[in-house]
Amino acid sequence: MEWNEILIRYGEISLKGRNRSLFIRKLKNNITSAMMDLKSIHLRAERDRMFLMAEESDELKKALERLPHVFGIQSFSPVAQCKADLKTIQQKAVEVIGSSPTEGKTFKVEVKRQDKEFPLVTSEIQREVGGYVLSHCPGLIVQMKKPDIVLLVDIRKEGAFLTSEVIKGAGGMPVGSNGNSLLMLSGGIDSPVAGYQMMKRGMSIDAIHFASPPYTSELAQRKVMDLAEKLCTFGASVRLHIIPFTELQQAVVKQVPANISMTTTRRMMLQVADRVREEIKAHGIITGESLGQVASQTLESMTAINEVTSTPILRPLIAMDKLEIIAISQQIGTYDISIRPYEDCCTIFTPSSPKTKPKLEKVHYYESFLDFHELIEEAVKNRTVIEASELHEDVEVFDDLL
Ligand code: ATP
Ligand code: MG
Repeated sequence: MEWNEILIRYGEISLKGRNRSLFIRKLKNNITSAMMDLKSIHLRAERDRMFLMAEESDELKKALERLPHVFGIQSFSPVAQCKADLKTIQQKAVEVIGSSPTEGKTFKVEVKRQDKEFPLVTSEIQREVGGYVLSHCPGLIVQMKKPDIVLLVDIRKEGAFLTSEVIKGAGGMPVGSNGNSLLMLSGGIDSPVAGYQMMKRGMSIDAIHFASPPYTSELAQRKVMDLAEKLCTFGASVRLHIIPFTELQQAVVKQVPANISMTTTRRMMLQVADRVREEIKAHGIITGESLGQVASQTLESMTAINEVTSTPILRPLIAMDKLEIIAISQQIGTYDISIRPYEDCCTIFTPSSPKTKPKLEKVHYYESFLDFHELIEEAVKNRTVIEASELHEDVEVFDDLL
């Protein structure tokens, strides 16, 4: 089937009164950037829907493959165009229904008659097209309520536009329509999923990763870059900040007893992250924490870690089971990257029995022996920033870190 355009329906954004135009603008930009290399594509936005057109038919096919990843789209449909005369519309209708992968027996025709000069009125077109389909598609019957297939016929000045297939979009809101945050991206399974969830709610993100060379390897680094690159496919570019964390981590291990060092390490990470967040003017920090998963993710631990900042910490996975998180990571394609067996800075320095209920007075007491502030500022200053466009290249980040 040769399609001529794609009808895109907005998701939640059509509900948002005042913000609607911002959301539509963002969605239009995001679709455009997802199709950047497809030169013949152009978009036309209306109040509650958008049309994507392409001069090259194979570019329209590629667009159909990419649209399911763009947040803010409720559903979309490939549309066939034909001359706006009844006979042609009837024949096209049979062709469109025949190509629909929707299994079904019942159908109805819905007509939008925008061209008021079309010789038949809406109900007549409906009847004529429906009747023709019935006699040419054996096995189909008409049903007005909840039919399996709805054939939409849109009659405009430029021609008639027909579609019957509705493809589910990614839902959510357009990335960039709900502020920006800094994602703490480890090489694990959880944090990329957390980033994905917030992007789905319309946030644009930067990512920050803590590396402790030579204890963590270049391959561990590559893994995080691949994860960040994967996140870029969901609508907006993700810049990656890599923090040289060895010195700070060693200082913590030296100053603080083993059973509290994990809490202090996390507090240092959060302070570095908060400083970077401030520099990039982001509003919040996202983590992949899930309640009770490990010692640092009890409510007491999170309270002790969180004490270093009043910046909102967004934890979209807090109430999710590991299996649910894994299912999403498989679906979004980060799982296979996350399970590559490279070490993380935290696993290397993790004590055998970290406290699940760290006492804040103790944490403060041991941290008071060293001026961590300077080390934090050093780490922020010496970070390597990798732009989204460089993520797929072989960037020699390790040279800078050593
Ligand atoms: P993940 O699968 O995301 O690594 P996890 O279950 O292994 O999570 P932790 O290792 O305790 O849990 O990390 C909790 C959160 O802290 C992570 O989800 C991530 O947001 C952040 N984090 C941990 N290690 C790093 C790191 N090296 N760089 C950046 N962020 C990190
Ligand atoms: Mg981890």
